[in-house]
Amino acid sequence: MRVVRLASEIDFDGWRRAGRALRAEGVPPEAVVWTVEYDLFADGAAPAAPAKGAGPRFTVPQPFIDLAERVVLNRSNERFALLYTLLWRLEREPGLIDNPADPDLTRARDMAKGVSRAAHKMKAFVRFRLVEGVEPEVYMAWFEPAHRVTEAVAPFFARRFTGMNWSILTPDACVAWDGETLKVSEGADPADAPREDAQEELWRTYYASIFNPARLNPRMMQQEMPKRYWRNLPEARLIPELIESAQRRTAQMVEARPNPPSERVLKAALRHARDGSYGESDPLTLEEAAVAAQVCRRCDLWREATQAVPGEGPARARIMIVGEQPGDEEDLTGRPFVGPAGRLLDKAMLEADFDRRKAFVTNAVKHFKHEPRGKMRLHKTPDRGEVQACRWWLDAERRMVKPRVILALGATAVMGITGRSMPIARSRGAPIALDGGARLVVSWHPSYLLRVPDADARARAYAQLVDDLRLAQSLT
Ligand code: SF4
Repeated sequence: MRVVRLASEIDFDGWRRAGRALRAEGVPPEAVVWTVEYDLFADGAAPAAPAKGAGPRFTVPQPFIDLAERVVLNRSNERFALLYTLLWRLEREPGLIDNPADPDLTRARDMAKGVSRAAHKMKAFVRFRLVEGVEPEVYMAWFEPAHRVTEAVAPFFARRFTGMNWSILTPDACVAWDGETLKVSEGADPADAPREDAQEELWRTYYASIFNPARLNPRMMQQEMPKRYWRNLPEARLIPELIESAQRRTAQMVEARPNPPSERVLKAALRHARDGSYGESDPLTLEEAAVAAQVCRRCDLWREATQAVPGEGPARARIMIVGEQPGDEEDLTGRPFVGPAGRLLDKAMLEADFDRRKAFVTNAVKHFKHEPRGKMRLHKTPDRGEVQACRWWLDAERRMVKPRVILALGATAVMGITGRSMPIARSRGAPIALDGGARLVVSWHPSYLLRVPDADARARAYAQLVDDLRLAQSLT
């Protein structure tokens, strides 16, 4: 019996060298025991690669190498032996790699899938905490991956959090990034990681604001965020409470559907639709415009949406808030800014002492643009043509409301109001004069804030949104 001792649990190069040497010597899989030995000078260290030309010539197919690199990261004790069995068989059965029914190959593919899943979960569920009293700032995270993916996933975090000093501690290995180099060291204990910091409250606020009760599916939720990760996720504390309140909130959303339009308004809307000549026959009131938009065919977005979502608020509001387009919840309820972005906007308004009831709130595009992904409907940004087509409705709202100040949230809103693109970062912070005397204040769209991965950048953009709300209010 040959005993091969590899240098670490993820020693792919050692396995590869040993596999080549054993194969060249003609040692069958059942005559090899694979083990991990940290002392490389002990007896049985992985055999060196065979000399060039030793043994029969054999080229390993690249798909097998790719598979083996992932399988090695699986926690199964059989992984090295299984891979050597496959290597042995590949030499004798050249078509093996393409056989979907082979039990050894299926087992290896399942292991590789488990590894890919573990890497995906690690990317999604690592949460950094600020280490108190350390200068410059250092963030640390504790994570227990299902398989040994820490070193493989570390470059992802280095790319994503390039400007941060961080460490990820796991029982298998620790990785640290200092802005330039990734360092790997031995595994750690959960007690080595800090427990909680002020960022966690922010995380919980964001999670609560992006939670959509109408789409609640606890089974799917737990599949995506398995309970084994909950103890390291600040937002997980909210889950039982959110599930409990979901039914109540969904019922409220359904009740909040707008009243049906009057017969007069409905007839006017149908006339608009039949004539198809919106430009020649403007709606006379906001109510008429709201209903007429339901039958608008100026672009194709009406086809996949539940309904048009017109603006709402006082007919003579001094301030108008313009967003991009309705989201999933807005499309279902028919009201603007009631979904996750709306809840974040409400929070910012509260901080800015801004009374939403005094503003006319609307969107640059009135129908929800999205693409289906399973049971989800994923937001898609409207294109320039759709924004231009829908400007007719936004212009009608502006003409009727006559706001003194327009707060544009995000690039699409700016395009809908001005007809041109403006970078938000450079346009925000000071009012811009519009034709007709109104003033434009530009800011970030709340849904952009929900997507910013870096906590510092997110907090900065949120503070700017609060400032811009204050500025807009001060100009009314
Ligand atoms: S998105 Fe606007 S322009 Fe397009 S169909 Fe809807 S209301 Fe009409």
